[in-house]
Amino acid sequence: MPPLIIPFFIPHAGCPHHCLFCNQQTISGAWQQLPDTAQIREQVIDWLKRSPDRPTEVAFFGGSFTLLPRQTQEVLLDAVQPFIRQGLVQGIRISTRPDGLEAEALSFLQGCQVTTIEIGVQSLDDTVLQLAGRGHTAEQSLQAIRRVWSAGFNTGAQLLPGLPGDTPDKALQTLRGVMTAGVQFVRIYPAVVLQGTGLADLYLSGRYQPPDLVQGVATAARLLDAANKAGVPVIRIGLQADDGLTVPGALLAGCWHPALGQLVRSQLVRDLVCQKAQVLPSGSEIRLHCHPQQVSEVVGQGRTNLHFWNQAGLLISQVRPDLQLERHQLCLESLQHKMCCSVVTDYIYEE
Ligand code: SF4
Repeated sequence: MPPLIIPFFIPHAGCPHHCLFCNQQTISGAWQQLPDTAQIREQVIDWLKRSPDRPTEVAFFGGSFTLLPRQTQEVLLDAVQPFIRQGLVQGIRISTRPDGLEAEALSFLQGCQVTTIEIGVQSLDDTVLQLAGRGHTAEQSLQAIRRVWSAGFNTGAQLLPGLPGDTPDKALQTLRGVMTAGVQFVRIYPAVVLQGTGLADLYLSGRYQPPDLVQGVATAARLLDAANKAGVPVIRIGLQADDGLTVPGALLAGCWHPALGQLVRSQLVRDLVCQKAQVLPSGSEIRLHCHPQQVSEVVGQGRTNLHFWNQAGLLISQVRPDLQLERHQLCLESLQHKMCCSVVTDYIYEE
């Protein structure tokens, strides 16, 4: 069972400057005020009541945690310690910048029961980082990942494909780079243009056009495929539909959808079926079998996959739920053939 994550947003707290694309107030719907000890305790108790008996972590997201004054870090982390001592919370996760992860910071976090560190890598292309005003290099990100991983933390990377200067190939190279350096999970946030950011200025003046939904899904599908093959979980695709993001005018452009992850996983299925169907005799009527909980992803939102296959000349006559199959498996059955495949292990996109 995935852990219950109790999130606290600390928008921009600790950040040395505003990155070109970032508006944490809009993303989280929260305003820059750090929660105090009482608020943290109250919220943890509330979440634990609603979801008892689950492994639980408390998370501090949305800023550069390790660049907060040390005393502030202590106040936030201390508030969680009683729950850890009672065995009600198993760990703490934080997100921060690659340039905030020196060895001394890591040993402090270890002493405070921080177990997971998510590193805002965004890109491993120095031009992209520079254009985004990140203030650190790709090499600093790689060193941070290696240091965090070597220190024994569960290590994750947040990637942001589609920024100015980025390409789908660079995004794939970024993913491969962070996986080689040792990350154990990734989050993929395709670029969006949020009101009030430097990126919005570029977009509104016609100097930047973010990948749209179709382009962003295609890139994210390539990344997901590569992560699947490497056995690295992608724990999130796309920003959550939090209050701030759904306010009219908050989101100006880019690849966003409230169920973006499902669109991306559907596209993997779509492309895998197209690929596998090529070896069946042309004109074969095909029945697709999948795990019952995967039917909607196989069919696609608004039956988009069925329409796509139909237009591509594939005669998919039925999608049948089959409890014998794992969630990642699919079987294509025609009159003469039955072929099983997997979105996780089968080759889908060209290397
Ligand atoms: S992207 Fe990260 S480091 Fe940059 S402003 Fe946002 S929260 Fe701060």
